[in-house]
Amino acid sequence: MSTIRQRLDLLRAKIPAHVTLIAVSKTKSVSLIREAYDAGQRDFGENYVQELIEKQPQLPSDIRWHFIGHLQSNKVKFIAPFVSCIHAVDSHSLLKEIDKQASKENRSIPCLLQIHIAREVSKFGISPADVSAFVQALPQAGYPNAPITGVMGMATFTVDEAIIREEFESLSRIFSNLKETTFAGSPEFSQISMGMSSDWPLAVECGSTMIRVGSSIFGER
Ligand SMILES: *Cc1c(COP(=O)(O)O)cnc(C)c1O
Repeated sequence: MSTIRQRLDLLRAKIPAHVTLIAVSKTKSVSLIREAYDAGQRDFGENYVQELIEKQPQLPSDIRWHFIGHLQSNKVKFIAPFVSCIHAVDSHSLLKEIDKQASKENRSIPCLLQIHIAREVSKFGISPADVSAFVQALPQAGYPNAPITGVMGMATFTVDEAIIREEFESLSRIFSNLKETTFAGSPEFSQISMGMSSDWPLAVECGSTMIRVGSSIFGER
């Protein structure tokens, strides 16, 4: 059995320097997270608000917490004081609430637009066909305390690499289109969050800048 440190070292040796490794710690204990922290890991991903707000005060304050799950507007206030990035924004109302709560905290919370690139039916994520209407309907000045810094997506759960590649490439294309149009004047629009334990090498090949890896670091959930 390898240790968390060994698994992190192995991953870091393979990941290009421009890609951020987010250690997905959902359902994992504070002591396991601490082990990863002691091995130098600083970016962690969580999916559930309740779990995150229980763990966060027990861990070092220089951890960058990424909220990667579906977020309900009424729960934004609980994580707004400390969260580093919110990855799964798919509605104007959520963006507006993040902006409001971040501004109360005198903070700016970077947000990624979740795009639904997979074949599975899901009620979450903006469908590729709706992305352009979504960004065109943003307020002229944007949401100053909730800047959109990129896109996020999840590929279909399949062993067929061709399907996964096609989906990652489509997210990459959506990112490039937005970067050339709506976000042409926004250098902070720079992130593509895609790739998990099973498919991150493919995601990096397709342009990912943030990979979200859980089981390869902490073991199966
Ligand atoms: C759980 C989760 C991950 C990590 O999945 P692994 O297969 O354990 O690496 C990544 N992204 C999201 C959105 C998740 O919910």
